[in-house]
Amino acid sequence: MSKEESKKFLGVMFNCCNVYGRIYKNKEGTHYAGFCPKCMKPIKIKIGEGGTSERFFNSY
Ligand SMILES: [Zn+2]
Repeated sequence: MSKEESKKFLGVMFNCCNVYGRIYKNKEGTHYAGFCPKCMKPIKIKIGEGGTSERFFNSY
């Protein structure tokens, strides 16, 4: 299994509702995108050159 395969989703803490959720890599592999499970606020995190080193992000 490659390293890329294990990074299909990202765990994020949605500060807007204080809930934990997952966001998924887009088709192009350029961003992780998803919505807050409670208020449906959209979140998008750019994936850097070598992939993002952080596994957890906060949404604001
Ligand atoms: Zn929310």
